[in-house]
Amino acid sequence: MKHIIILGDGMADLPVERLGGKTLLQYAHKPMMDQLAKEGRCGRLVTVPEGFPPGSEVANTAILGYDLNKVYEGRGPLEAASIGYEMADDDFAIRCNIITLEDGKIITHNGGNLETDDARVLINYLNENLAKPVNEREGCERVKFITGIQYRHLLVIKGGNKHIVCAPPHDHPNEEWRSLLVKPEEGLVGSDFVAAQQTADLINKMILKSQELLAQHPFNIERAKKGERQANSIWPWSGGYRPSMETLMQQYPEIKSGAVISAVDLIQGIGKYAGLRIIKVPGATGLANTNYEGKAQAAIDALEKDDFVFVHVEASDEAGHDGDLELKLKTIEYLDQRLIKPIYNKVATWNEPVCIAVLPDHLTPVEQRIHVGQPVPFIIWHRGIEPDSVQQYDEVSCVSGSYGLLKLNEFMQAFMAIQ
Ligand SMILES: [Zn+2]
Repeated sequence: MKHIIILGDGMADLPVERLGGKTLLQYAHKPMMDQLAKEGRCGRLVTVPEGFPPGSEVANTAILGYDLNKVYEGRGPLEAASIGYEMADDDFAIRCNIITLEDGKIITHNGGNLETDDARVLINYLNENLAKPVNEREGCERVKFITGIQYRHLLVIKGGNKHIVCAPPHDHPNEEWRSLLVKPEEGLVGSDFVAAQQTADLINKMILKSQELLAQHPFNIERAKKGERQANSIWPWSGGYRPSMETLMQQYPEIKSGAVISAVDLIQGIGKYAGLRIIKVPGATGLANTNYEGKAQAAIDALEKDDFVFVHVEASDEAGHDGDLELKLKTIEYLDQRLIKPIYNKVATWNEPVCIAVLPDHLTPVEQRIHVGQPVPFIIWHRGIEPDSVQQYDEVSCVSGSYGLLKLNEFMQAFMAIQ
């Protein structure tokens, strides 16, 4: 039996008055998901462990069966994997935004919609003028910047300490940046405190120096002339060490090889550490205009070779964050007809049976516009599975599914137990 998880990011929702009190999954026209629910078995899953925020990186890691308390190292290491940077054991990797400051405040977390080609120039400049002097002073390659996507980059500090508190810049718009500088975690003592303080000091010095340097860069001088927002400070946050994750192949002997298909770097990073090969699909955007057909075909191709495929589609989450009800309904219908249907039509007739799971990672309700970590509905289907009584796929119907309410790694265990 081969296995494929099809994940609609943030697809689950809450009842919406404009839809007569229905959720979007209840309201949307999605005959394929409903057929899978009818022919298969359903349940609900807790995807966010206690004490963790309902982030996509948290929920997707939990869905793949990992214990977040053991493996969670923040965004930096996941993005490092997706960029293709192989972390050493003594590397500390931290997400490094390039942001916009004005009048002592954080104006945007995205450097005025910085584009990757411009960012690459700025990152090279920072390596030459900020990292290099630090490295010369320390007599080793202590720090380096690595270009990521748009405003989202990486700072690697050799020997850096992860027990620091950083402020995610998107959570602090229009706030004074000085009071948000990096601090050691509370409660550290002795050498633990010293190590954390040293890393915090190093990062803070680099933030200050980056402001001096970036203000002088022709890119920002040009933007200032045009009255546009400048990309005028680095802002590191969410760092950690190389995650010690066993691959899925190590945990589930039935999986000989697997693949991850996602437009999102965090999800690609999780897949990489889980031992999955990253398949990049042209035209996969993370939005409703994504290349659904291309992702479906890539999943079918992968399933011909691999035993396990994880397809992640970001579009519903983005529509939820935008509070766009019509668009979010469309993303559900697109997922149904343009991705799940072609995969189902293809694999349903294969000699080697394929087990299909469909679920979101968390709720991104259109009326809240933020992630909500409530249980999510799921379907498990394969040819010949004995169906339960659930007739359609949504948050309410799945309450009476035969899997009941599963928690965290119980989903992956139940899914992989089907052989
Ligand atoms: Zn998500």
